[in-house]
Amino acid sequence: SAKLQAAAKDKKSTYSFEFFPPKTAQGVQNLYDRMDRMHNFGPSFIDITWGAGGRHASLTCEMVKVAQTVYGLETCMHLTCTDMPKSKIDEALKEAHDAGCTNILALRGDPPRDKEKWEATSGGFRYAKDLVKYIKEAYGNHFDIGVAGYPEGCDDNDDPEELIQHLKEKVDLGGTFIVTQMFYDADIFLDWVKKVRAAGINVPIVPGIMPISTHAAFLRRANWSNIHVPPHWHEALEPVKNDDAAVRDVGTGLVVELCRKLMENGIMHLHFYTMNLAQSTRMILEELNITPSQESPLDKPLPWRQSLGLN
Ligand code: FAD
Repeated sequence: SAKLQAAAKDKKSTYSFEFFPPKTAQGVQNLYDRMDRMHNFGPSFIDITWGAGGRHASLTCEMVKVAQTVYGLETCMHLTCTDMPKSKIDEALKEAHDAGCTNILALRGDPPRDKEKWEATSGGFRYAKDLVKYIKEAYGNHFDIGVAGYPEGCDDNDDPEELIQHLKEKVDLGGTFIVTQMFYDADIFLDWVKKVRAAGINVPIVPGIMPISTHAAFLRRANWSNIHVPPHWHEALEPVKNDDAAVRDVGTGLVVELCRKLMENGIMHLHFYTMNLAQSTRMILEELNITPSQESPLDKPLPWRQSLGLN
């Protein structure tokens, strides 16, 4: 859009942070403290994931409310179809609405922990597109509805072309922005963006960036999401793999290189999978030199819709 192009011209980058609901009450409190600190980095928004099978459903709703009303953070609530009859979806949407949340990431969801394959719940929805359609019908334009995109295939579909058609259905039914699965190869992402645009999908695309905190987690996540790791990443990380601080330093350099390439190609909003940790994300933002500083203090984060070129 014109606003996104203007932001790109001004080289104004914006960013957002994903958090997940911790397992313990202490974990929740620690995360609130961290959210409060990360607020000072000036994210355009944060999002809170939805636990597989709706396990942490009430916690997700509660955290959205606290982030939105106590910390004043623009918040996006993830919502999935997994184990969610329509009545539960209604409750979650109402809670988000009443907390002043205006952004939902509508997802099919991972299978519940005890199941290998995803199954539809009776009285619920089958695909993310059904949830998008339902939210749009129930709430009109109240929510900006995000949908998931997969530059390298998803867990139960590795055909990128078919996934783009399914992505188009989600957008045509009311999706207003796309957040992607993590990736480490900028070229794969940029090629995919071209294909998405060629398919007639014009909404903003937000790249999912996974910082590197330990070597084991880096390998696990790359294998789990089946994404391509550029060979020079392995070459850089392998020699320092037993030294977490060195892995973070080298990893920061690699992820910064990835982010710079995206920014050079006009992708001006970066979405960080923080894994509820502040350090690696902070190191990347500082290295990119896009956090508020004495020379450019934080007045107010760029409003989320504006930063993505949404009205
Ligand atoms: P969909 O778009 O519905 O696709 C699911 C499958 O159905 C795909 O294989 C697709 O190709 C197929 N499909 C879609 N439409 C059709 C059709 N018309 N006909 C036939 N097949 C079709 N999971 C969670 O549990 N909680 C979270 O908070 C969460 N957050 C996420 C955030 C992001 C940014 C991403 C990328 C993923 C997230 N996930 C989360 C994981 C996600 O729920 C899984 O990857 C899930 O398997 C797919 O969800 P989806 O919304 O992309 O589903």
